[in-house]
Amino acid sequence: MGEHRRDIDIAVIGAGVLGLATVDSLARRGADVVCFDGRVPGSGLSGGLTRTFRHRHDEERHVALAVEGRAGFAAWERRSGRVLIGDEGAVYAGMGPADVKGLALHGVPHYFAPSARQDEIFPVLAPVDGPLLVDPGAGAIRAKHTISALAGWAGDRIVQADIHSVTVPRDGQGVEVQTTEAIYRARHVVIAAGTEVPRLAAGVGFDIPLEARLHVRPHFRVREDAAGKTLPCWVDRTGAYGETVYGSPIGDTGKYVVGLIGTDVDIPFGPDGALPPGSSTEDQARRVISYVRRAMPGLDPEPVGVRVCVMTKLPGGSDALRAWHTDGVTAVAGHNLFKMAPVLGELLADSAQNNRLPEKLAEAGAGSLVAS
Ligand SMILES: Cc1cc2nc3c(=O)[nH]c(=O)nc-3n(C[C@H](O)[C@H](O)[C@H](O)COP(=O)(O)OP(=O)(O)OC[C@H]3O[C@@H](n4cnc5c(N)ncnc54)[C@H](O)[C@@H]3O)c2cc1C
Repeated sequence: MGEHRRDIDIAVIGAGVLGLATVDSLARRGADVVCFDGRVPGSGLSGGLTRTFRHRHDEERHVALAVEGRAGFAAWERRSGRVLIGDEGAVYAGMGPADVKGLALHGVPHYFAPSARQDEIFPVLAPVDGPLLVDPGAGAIRAKHTISALAGWAGDRIVQADIHSVTVPRDGQGVEVQTTEAIYRARHVVIAAGTEVPRLAAGVGFDIPLEARLHVRPHFRVREDAAGKTLPCWVDRTGAYGETVYGSPIGDTGKYVVGLIGTDVDIPFGPDGALPPGSSTEDQARRVISYVRRAMPGLDPEPVGVRVCVMTKLPGGSDALRAWHTDGVTAVAGHNLFKMAPVLGELLADSAQNNRLPEKLAEAGAGSLVAS
């Protein structure tokens, strides 16, 4: 090792939920791993208080990953001594038998409840036509508690540094990581840098079609009638109240977050932060408020707060997940990945130790974008 550089075995770029889960898995295997993040852990896509854990996905392999994710969260709960996924369950409107094939295949408990039972299942809701699908093992992920447990376990393996670039050096020895702190050489680098994955992974030749979009999440106070009742996570695909939405309780704060789902809702923005002419986050907030006013009378439709978040999207559906690998580097990107973090952390750790994509990750990305 020269004086000018530091040699390490594995570098993980990003202390979001995926990077931290990878570091945790590697640390438990006794690997030598350093995690880089320029900001406080959990400041990126993993920020905020709540995420939905749900088993249902359109693709059967994503259901399988969710099942493993749930088991991984249970293990994290045992180690941390904290509840990380509540027992609220998830309820979906607008689903039919074809939508639960993956659940059935993987033995995930679920049932269709007649609309007559709606008040008992989801007491803040206006009447919804058709049965509600119930996923009782789902619930609201305590995102902040999860990040704080993982960051605690990672401890001083986290180095606060911005990564400028990841490149294969001319001498072919390892992978070079240019940071604000030092020049590192790693045997393997895992790029789990959220919105920055395409930029950093371009240095080793990946062309990653990840788009960043702004997404508005107003949250609402639960009215007195329903206060204290357990409210499930919510997915409304019917459009009967003018929008398709998701919703989630924020722990036991008495607040409930609602966001729009659909291809036209989130606002693309470029690296310079400019929004397309005529687009407005206010419009998104207004649409959510109008939905809540009509469809969720148990919530006070005057939001108590609004977060504007960045979402990432890959081509291939709202639950898309892909991993890329080349000699010495693995990169990961996708959309709704918080719920799968424990299993993705294990798989990314495998890829760093074995220098190849484990089959499940290659499959999750349909294989087509796996480099070399
Ligand atoms: C509004 C919203 C709602 C969501 N809802 C759900 C849901 O209900 N269920 C679900 O499962 N998932 C959901 N997701 C998705 C989920 O939150 C993300 O898939 C997940 O958090 C991604 O984690 P990550 O570790 O890949 O990225 P991040 O959390 O973004 O972590 C990447 C880290 O890399 C760091 N970084 C980036 N560039 C550099 C650099 N150059 N140098 C050093 N560090 C760098 C960043 O600071 C950041 O901390 C939602 C996301 C959003 C935004």
